[in-house]
Amino acid sequence: MDMRSNAFEITSMPDPGSRYCKVGRTHCFYFNKDGIPLITVGPHWPIMCITGFLILLITGIFLGYICPKVGKIDLIVGCLIFSITLYFFFAAALVNPGIVIMSTQMKSRGDFNSSMEKICTECNVIREDFTEHCKKCRVCVEEYDDHYSLLGKCVGKNTVKYFYGLLVCALCMLVFIVTTLFFRFKDKL
Ligand SMILES: [Zn+2]
Ligand SMILES: [Zn+2]
Repeated sequence: MDMRSNAFEITSMPDPGSRYCKVGRTHCFYFNKDGIPLITVGPHWPIMCITGFLILLITGIFLGYICPKVGKIDLIVGCLIFSITLYFFFAAALVNPGIVIMSTQMKSRGDFNSSMEKICTECNVIREDFTEHCKKCRVCVEEYDDHYSLLGKCVGKNTVKYFYGLLVCALCMLVFIVTTLFFRFKDKL
């Protein structure tokens, strides 16, 4: 039986150039001419918003109140660390991690042999090597790393570099916060 023939009826298909389509439990925005979404927001987007808000709040408190009282260099280093952290966070949270879109996959591959291919029974796409299905997002993701609720979605092929960049930045941010607080309040210790 050809699993693809009835797959169209059960999954909504984004049109190339369309602005929004829900794929699985993931909200996809701005499809390019190949029908691949540029921006995706995962099912845990409220947690992602809270994480983003907390990073912005800490950034605001440090750059607005604490760093200027410590010194110019501390403020410059702070601006650098916080802006790179925010860049990696929003890139990891918003860029499409590599969601496999059925219509795009069919178009690019042309013919397929369903008996030879590994097909995801959940979203009816061909599951290539390193592609895994995320049960929380209900989509297949290329080079799937894991699902991170703090980002609201999965990390995959396109976002893994931002995610590891974010981890390094988070560590730098922690060291910076501790150092800044030490210099700010060392006279009171
Ligand atoms: Zn799947
Ligand atoms: Zn996921």
